[in-house]
Amino acid sequence: MNDPKKEGVENLLQGLDYSVLQQCMHCGLCLPSCPTYVETLRERSSPRGRIAMMRAIADGDLETSRIFAEEMYFCLGCLACETACPAGVDYATLFEQSRAQVEASGVLDSRGRRLVRALALRWIFTSRRRISLLAKALYLFQKSGLRSFVRASGLLRLLPASLRELEPLTPEIQRASTRTLYQQRYRFLNPGSPKYRVALLSGCVQDIAFSDVNADTIGVLQLNGCEVILPEAQQCCGSLHAHNGDLASARDLARVNIDAFLPKRARGEEAEAVDAIIVNAGGCGSHMRHYDRLLADDVDYAERAAMWSRKVRDICEFLVEIDFRPPAASPDSDVLKVAYHESCHLKHGQGVSDQPRRVLESIPGVELAQLPEADWCCGSAGIYNITQPEMSMKLLDRKMGHIASIRPDVVATGNPGCVIQIEHGIRKHGLDARVQHPVSLLAAAYERRRVEVAKRDLSPESLIVEGGRPI
Ligand code: SF4
Ligand code: SF4
Repeated sequence: MNDPKKEGVENLLQGLDYSVLQQCMHCGLCLPSCPTYVETLRERSSPRGRIAMMRAIADGDLETSRIFAEEMYFCLGCLACETACPAGVDYATLFEQSRAQVEASGVLDSRGRRLVRALALRWIFTSRRRISLLAKALYLFQKSGLRSFVRASGLLRLLPASLRELEPLTPEIQRASTRTLYQQRYRFLNPGSPKYRVALLSGCVQDIAFSDVNADTIGVLQLNGCEVILPEAQQCCGSLHAHNGDLASARDLARVNIDAFLPKRARGEEAEAVDAIIVNAGGCGSHMRHYDRLLADDVDYAERAAMWSRKVRDICEFLVEIDFRPPAASPDSDVLKVAYHESCHLKHGQGVSDQPRRVLESIPGVELAQLPEADWCCGSAGIYNITQPEMSMKLLDRKMGHIASIRPDVVATGNPGCVIQIEHGIRKHGLDARVQHPVSLLAAAYERRRVEVAKRDLSPESLIVEGGRPI
């Protein structure tokens, strides 16, 4: 991707390889897959309409107008159009570049917006230390009783509607970060003669709100013969920045992560320290796979960025690839009816669809139920539920209708944004279900087996294989 200032082009869409803009042949086959088109039946809110506007801007036939800007922020970035498109449209690139163009043009600019963007994108989400400080403050707010007081007192009514709606979507912050859990327990459990050496991205939201899922991921990998490392210098993957028009910060974060996971070696040595870079958040993985594209013009990083993109694996994808051990116990004393909701960025952004189902199907006591429209966006889409609450809630209600129709015990999904959104939907619709990552169900099944074995006082070796049976 080209830098418009460097190249002297008028805008970022003009800086794109023109073949990317030309791919769309206007057939309309993507329209039934596009949630914003299906809800509005408006051409400009369809992939075809949006791409036509992008091309017109690149051709100089259209200004970067406020209408275009609002349309680009109305788009979920769910990439369902990419899966549906027979012409192989690279909508992810077009989408990121268009949002960057909107920001560069300043058509949505206001002092408040500039401040929020600077604070969130450039200050908080560029530093793990600052994210962790924010998490500590939120944890105290949630656990000290202050939150219950604020909710009960009606103080929330004094807030603007946008902030009021945000409050129920704030995830529960966990006491311990991934690193703390790793230092206290998991680094001692790495196998002595590992079959694979892998590194885990702990993420930003995932690290503060779902460190238990990260711990489950590490534990499951270790029980499947992997040494797991947690690079100290890693930062947020940058997807939040790339999807919100801040490609410069996204590139900076990609460089930091490449240095942390694939450090440059002495001349002649390859930076091949790990077999795979594991991610368990669909949105992060989808972005991380494209570090090669993001840093293609960076002479210092392009080679390692390409290596990085080759090594990125979703956790379920990797488990299937290494032929993981199916557990011998169920995660619960009752049979669990599980509905699998597909994260858009896992399915459409990474092509990972079958593998999480294979992980779930391997677990005794799990009955995988068919969720209608399993791959239809739940309306989370990064921060879409904050920026476009009306459409986001429409999509959530549609999703919850399908979930209610099959009444599962567990909704399994592989992205923290979807977990937060669907948990909100469950509360809103008064349903009785919990939301879990597939890897957490697998970890719970392994753990139950470990406890069973411990009770029977069998040898430690029988934890792994007892009488030829897998754990
Ligand atoms: S990314 Fe999703 S919302 Fe946007 S055009 Fe494609 S299908 Fe529609
Ligand atoms: S994006 Fe693909 S499916 Fe949609 S109109 Fe263009 S070519 Fe057809």
